[in-house]
Amino acid sequence: MASKVFWGSPRQAKLDANETLPAKLDLILEQLHLRDRVKDELVVLKMHTGSNIGYSTVHPLFVRKVVDAIKEGGGQPVVADIEWDVKGAERRGYTSETLGCPIYPAAGLKENYFYPHHRPYKNIEEWHLAGAIQDATFLVNFAHAKGHPSCGYGGAIKNLALGCMAGKTRSAMHDAMHFDPYWFPEKCPDPAVRKAIIESCPFGAIVQDRENESGLHLHFEGCNQCGRCLQVAPPGSLKIDPVNFHTFQEACAISTSITLSTFEPGKAVHLVLATHMTPVCDCFGFTSMPILRDAGIFGSDDIVALEQAVLDETAKYPLIEENIPTSMEVHTRVGHPLRWLHGPYKDPYKVVEYAEKLGLGTREYELVDVLPVASFQRTSVTYIPAS
Ligand code: SF4
Repeated sequence: MASKVFWGSPRQAKLDANETLPAKLDLILEQLHLRDRVKDELVVLKMHTGSNIGYSTVHPLFVRKVVDAIKEGGGQPVVADIEWDVKGAERRGYTSETLGCPIYPAAGLKENYFYPHHRPYKNIEEWHLAGAIQDATFLVNFAHAKGHPSCGYGGAIKNLALGCMAGKTRSAMHDAMHFDPYWFPEKCPDPAVRKAIIESCPFGAIVQDRENESGLHLHFEGCNQCGRCLQVAPPGSLKIDPVNFHTFQEACAISTSITLSTFEPGKAVHLVLATHMTPVCDCFGFTSMPILRDAGIFGSDDIVALEQAVLDETAKYPLIEENIPTSMEVHTRVGHPLRWLHGPYKDPYKVVEYAEKLGLGTREYELVDVLPVASFQRTSVTYIPAS
């Protein structure tokens, strides 16, 4: 059965505050019955406050609206993010005064406040779920949509997958991309050829392994799978294989399933703000130009349906190519536009597929526009250039 995804579209008929995204967030919260569901609940609002001088994360105004709704419903809200981002959140406008509730480092000040969950997957035996997340009785997952260098797209699943785990688990999830072997040094004994392989990558994604003279290390984050290195590498010595890339996406789905398993059914809602979507994630500590057209704000009880809807809406328009940094390239124009940029093995839909297989929701959805614009008629304007 299809899940409902409530949508505040970026379109307006009039220049009216009631037709803007914060007002549409109110309508989404009403549709989700958030106030009716949080009485006496300890509600953790998981968001990413960004890093350094980034400014495209979810604006405090939107967060405040959710916090106020939780309080009006009789819940006790706290905002949680990872420790190093909470430390600098104040200069980006996120304070307990602006948000209306405390902001906690999810896994404590030393990343050592967590609950272990035994679930072996490749290099990860035990997952460390942040204490402030597991201690809560209700979850509001509020994510900003953007590109991501490891998996193409970061949204609601990514916000939980990395943001709800303590530091060691976050590192292990990134390391998991190296679990399946991709470099076979016995097939490439010549150091000059290894040097040529390194130099063949225009993105610096292949480097010398620091611990092993004959080893090469692939920075999967910088690799768009263009294949230039494979043209230099001796047969069988190097693999650019989907398995390494998909491992991160599968790990994200597993991590999310662990987090959601600690909340009773009906005790989690998910929101995504799809505006100012940059090529890479908000961890980078800066905001570059948007590369996708704004797609509005989305909310659902079903994280899988929500992500599918966000991806489908953002896939309707091509990349804004003039805003892509010149150090990146678009080498394929197939599938979701973020796939054009990050490569076919970082297909944004992959993590949604894994999440559905784990039973976190369904990719079938009904998109409910909370304030439809009846007809989109533009007044024609004659442009007279200044003389
Ligand atoms: S596939 Fe392309 S981007 Fe990836 S490491 Fe090889 S040369 Fe670099």
